[in-house]
Amino acid sequence: MIIAIKQGATEGEVQRFTALLEKQGVKVNLSVGASQTVLGLVGDTTGIQEKSLLAHQLVEKVIRVQEPYKRANRLFHPDDTQITIAGIDGETRHIGGGYLGIMAGPCSVETRDQIIGVAQAVKQAGAGFLRGGAFKPRTSPYSFQGLGCEGLDLLIAAKKATGLPIVTELMAIHQLELFDEVDIIQVGARNMQNFTLLKELGCCRKPVLLKRGYAATITELLMAAEYIMAGGNDRIILCERGIRTFESYTRNTLDLSAVPILKKQSHLPVIVDPSHATGLSWMVPPMAKAAIAAGADGLIVEVHQNPEEALCDGEQSITPATFAGLMHTLQRYAALENRIW
Ligand code: PEP
Ligand code: MN
Repeated sequence: MIIAIKQGATEGEVQRFTALLEKQGVKVNLSVGASQTVLGLVGDTTGIQEKSLLAHQLVEKVIRVQEPYKRANRLFHPDDTQITIAGIDGETRHIGGGYLGIMAGPCSVETRDQIIGVAQAVKQAGAGFLRGGAFKPRTSPYSFQGLGCEGLDLLIAAKKATGLPIVTELMAIHQLELFDEVDIIQVGARNMQNFTLLKELGCCRKPVLLKRGYAATITELLMAAEYIMAGGNDRIILCERGIRTFESYTRNTLDLSAVPILKKQSHLPVIVDPSHATGLSWMVPPMAKAAIAAGADGLIVEVHQNPEEALCDGEQSITPATFAGLMHTLQRYAALENRIW
C-alpha cells in the first residue's frame, strides 16, 4: 500500500502517523522527495482500510497495490486448491487442480421418485454430485418454498440410493444442524454477503459452494470467500451464475470472463451455473461447453425429468437425455485438455 502525504505536513506529524501504522503490524518505508513524501507499507495490509487512512488530515492519496483478500489470493497460495469429497460409495471425487466436478439435479427436491430418478440418470451420464434445493430462496413468498426438512431427507435418500455426494442450499444458520449428511453446503447468490452466515460457515468443516451475488463484483465474491476462510474453512468452490445487466433476453448475463479472472486471482476452484445464468434450457449446453473451454473446474446444472411440470425453474432445466448428450461432448473436451473427469 502506498500513501502520499500532503505538502506542508510536518516531520513530527509524519512520524506520529508512521508510528500509528506500525502499531497495525506493517513496516513503513519513508521516502521524502523534493515535492512529495510517500510512505510504502510492507507486510499484511489486509486489515488496513484505505477509507480510514483518508480520514487523516495529512493523507493526500492511498493506493492499494495488494488485493484486500489474502487467504483466497493466489499470491499466497500459488497451487490450485483441490476439494476432495469421499462418497459413501467408496469413490473419492475431486474438484479443482485439473479435476472437473459436475453437479446436476433439479432446482428443487419435489418427490422421492423425482429425486432418486434424476440422481440415477445424472450419475449414469457421468455427474459426480447431485444438486437439489430443499430450502428455496424465492423472489415471491407465494412461490413454492421447497420441501424443507422433508426435502433434505429425500435428498439424503437419493444419496444413499446412488452414492452421489449431495449439494444443497443453506439459507439460515439454524438450518446447519440439519446438514450433517450434506456433502457441500451451497450459499446462494442472495446470501453471498450475509456475513453472519459466512462467518458461521468459517467454523464449519464442510466444503462450501459460494455463488456470486447477482450484483457482486469479482472482488466482493473473493472477499465473501475470505470471510469463510478467515474462520478457518478453506474448502470453498466459487460459482459464477450470471450477473444482472441491462440485457433482458436472458435471466442474467453469464460473465464468463469471471472464470479466468477468478482463476488468476485465486487458487480456489471455480465452477459455472449455466442454468441460472441464462434462464433458458436451450442455452444451457452451449454455455456449459463455453464454461469448460474458459477453464472452469466444473458445472452445476439443473436437470428435471419433466421440466414442464417442475415446481421451480422448469424453463431453465434440461432433461436427463439432453444432460447425457452434453456430458458425452464434455468428456471429449476434457480429454482434449488432459482434464480429469
Ligand atoms: C439455486 O442454485 O437453486 C439458486 C437459487 O441459485 P442462485 O443462488 O445462484 O440464484
Ligand atoms: Mn433454480
